[in-house]
Amino acid sequence: MEEIINDWRKNAGIQKKENFDFLKKLKSVPGPELIPLLQKSHDEAFHRIDCLGCANCCKTTPPLITKNDLNRISKHLNISPKQFKRRFVLDDVNGDMMFNGVPCRFLNEDNSCLIYEVRPEACRKYPHTNELEYQDRALLNAANTVVCPAAFYVIQRLKTEFDYL
Ligand code: SF4
Ligand code: SF4
Repeated sequence: MEEIINDWRKNAGIQKKENFDFLKKLKSVPGPELIPLLQKSHDEAFHRIDCLGCANCCKTTPPLITKNDLNRISKHLNISPKQFKRRFVLDDVNGDMMFNGVPCRFLNEDNSCLIYEVRPEACRKYPHTNELEYQDRALLNAANTVVCPAAFYVIQRLKTEFDYL
């Protein structure tokens, strides 16, 4: 894992533009060809990377919060959705809700999540590297490579598979 994290630290920023260009080209690959490779790369990434040894997303990137998240988490914490929103959530310029600060206030010292069972949908899905819509989100995927070593790893694997297209 250390080797992957070091590779990510050293190269993710430098390769962001190259990765964005690659991701744009990936759009032309037929879904049935791409999806199995994507799933394989995603599985391999999370087999090799332990999120508990990283937590960089929780430390740097506030997740978006849906109304369902708000209701579920506030119920779990035994406070009203209104109280929860006042204490932990802010509205961004687009009117979306997100947690109000980084590192996330629910991140424990050992990198575990205090509300893991009821965590936001965005946290469950991050970094979205095994989703059908992956090839439609070049900009987001490129941005995720500088936050998430697994997202970076997936792109490196795909670049090898497609010989950089
Ligand atoms: S940044 Fe990626 S690898 Fe790190 S904890 Fe988040 S999802 Fe896991
Ligand atoms: S809610 Fe949990 S998983 Fe989501 S950012 Fe906070 S600590 Fe990380």
